[in-house]
Amino acid sequence: ATPTSIMVGTGRAAQLGVLFRKGDALQRLGESKVIAFDKTGTLTRGTPVLSSHALFGGAAYDDVLQLVASAEDRSEHPIARALVAANSRPILKAEVEAVAGHGLKATVDGRTVLIGNVRLMKDAGIEVDAAQPALDEAASRGETPVLVAIDGALAAALSVADQLKSDAKATIAALQQAGLRVALITGDSKATAKAIASDLGIDDIRAEVLPGDKADAVRQLRDEFGPVTFVGDGINDAPALAEADVGMAMGTGTDIAIEAGDVILSSGDTKSVVNALTVSRHTMRNIR
Ligand code: ADP
Ligand code: MG
Repeated sequence: ATPTSIMVGTGRAAQLGVLFRKGDALQRLGESKVIAFDKTGTLTRGTPVLSSHALFGGAAYDDVLQLVASAEDRSEHPIARALVAANSRPILKAEVEAVAGHGLKATVDGRTVLIGNVRLMKDAGIEVDAAQPALDEAASRGETPVLVAIDGALAAALSVADQLKSDAKATIAALQQAGLRVALITGDSKATAKAIASDLGIDDIRAEVLPGDKADAVRQLRDEFGPVTFVGDGINDAPALAEADVGMAMGTGTDIAIEAGDVILSSGDTKSVVNALTVSRHTMRNIR
């Protein structure tokens, strides 16, 4: 590539809200075979709300929410924000231990509270069969189920709903049309990921990927299909952004993700990914 064509390309991209940190990212993007997306905050808005709940063992909704919000109060996870927002009672003092990729354990008001996914409950020996209908229904709507156990017994199945970004579906279609393989990498459950992916027309789904394993998922995609561009926004996404041939960070994301990105999409919308690809391919074409 000539320095001039790269300069023109990065300049044009910048006008579209796509900031290329390095000129070679502009070139590598044009050579990508796969575009892999994080889900929460990247394809979805990342500001979920508590949308439904089922209670078990005689638990009272307001009590459950108060314990949950107290435990989640200091977490920055989008699920935590949704649960805290749904509570209207005072926050109680809590001792909290995060369980990466699964949820958290806390002691609140002398009670042991477990909040998270099925894995978290099973690992703690908590019986979750009663929650199966609620779990299935949440997942079929593309929502994230959050189970709550209090003092060793299942107390509630909450469902947290995030909205797809309005341009996500068109973005996926445009990328596929451009000949790219589109993949979804998420820590969320397989069932939830499947519902979201099917809404968006994505058929390569890598779900229940632990925070430490997202970079591995990128490596696997590269081994299978060739150079990978990864788009993400979270703290969890930083290693995958660094591992990818091109890491694209949502400008609306966490500082850690932004620092790890080769490309920053300033607006946080997904069609910037298509704009970036278009500019990249034009630039590459001009230099041949
Ligand atoms: P992602 O960012 O893709 O949602 P995470 O690794 O952050 O992936 O979370 C994976 C799963 O772990 C979530 O879908 C949720 O079920 C559970 N989880 C993580 N953090 C929390 C939390 N603070 N409260 C409740 N559940 C959580
Ligand atoms: Mg995210």
